[in-house]
Amino acid sequence: MQILDGKLVSKSVKNYLAQSVTIQKEKGKKIPHLAAILVGSNGASETYVAGKIKDCEEVGFNSTLLRLDESVSEKSLIEHIGFLNDDPDVDGILVQLPLPVHIKEEHIISSIDPGKDVDGFHPVSMGKMVNGLPTFIPATPYGIMLMLEHYKIETSGKYAVVIGRSHIVGTPMSILLSRNTPYGNCTVTQCHSKTHDLASFCRQADILVAALGKPEFITADMVKEGAVVIDVGITRIPDNTKKSGYRLSGDVKYDEVAPKCSFITPVPGGVGPMTRAALLKNTFNATVALKAVMN
Ligand code: NAD
Repeated sequence: MQILDGKLVSKSVKNYLAQSVTIQKEKGKKIPHLAAILVGSNGASETYVAGKIKDCEEVGFNSTLLRLDESVSEKSLIEHIGFLNDDPDVDGILVQLPLPVHIKEEHIISSIDPGKDVDGFHPVSMGKMVNGLPTFIPATPYGIMLMLEHYKIETSGKYAVVIGRSHIVGTPMSILLSRNTPYGNCTVTQCHSKTHDLASFCRQADILVAALGKPEFITADMVKEGAVVIDVGITRIPDNTKKSGYRLSGDVKYDEVAPKCSFITPVPGGVGPMTRAALLKNTFNATVALKAVMN
């Protein structure tokens, strides 16, 4: 069994980006600039946004954090996004989700300029991804694809089961794995909360991606011998022994599943760091590579 080390792979992605930024600077070209909007003060969202800003600093990107009050109206939030859309110095815009219930996420996401949509959630980005056109890929599935590539995991002709159908993880993941690309070409079944006998699908999977958000849901009896297991789940479990007051749990019962796997991602230290690295890659692409084709 080999651990898919997200910390290690994300470090190599970050090193590559830091070098690329240095070269950009030397050539007098634009430095990537990410603008993040945080509405309210949800604990997990604060942590995620702080991490994204810190990542930018680490690789030499510019960043802006715009904090808005929980009570901000949808109209006002869209106006703020409009200013960032029009600001030529801002290359990437992300709005940290979830948003307060009085704001419709789809209105907000649709108001972001698709050329700056580094989260890849805009319907234009989604549509291009489905069509196999160059675009921003949502960071979590993009990070997983980068990890498969790094470890040269054979995917062609394999049977992949993706559990979850969210727009940000499960659905794009199942599309990317089924595409005719070097780390695609899987035969994919996408499972969800209404799937009957989920375990019977899981047991056949050569590649199992668990993105349902149910701690330790996947047990050893649900996993085929030699499978590649990607655990996307992150749930905070109250834990008084930790300074933070919680520990993170994945969707996979790691201790009993790992011995059966050829490869497995740990939680933490697997998909999480890759998601952060993939967002940086999207931001860099927003500045250089994709700019020409997006606008
Ligand atoms: P979501 O709640 O939007 O979607 C969960 C999906 O799981 C749904 O489509 C649902 O149909 C399915 N599901 C729920 N219960 C099920 C069951 N019993 N059997 C089969 N399917 C079931 O969640 P999401 O945003 O896609 O995130 C999923 C998990 O991944 C969460 O734990 C989230 O915190 C985590 N996550 C991690 C990262 C990361 O960087 N590691 C990024 C995004 C999300």
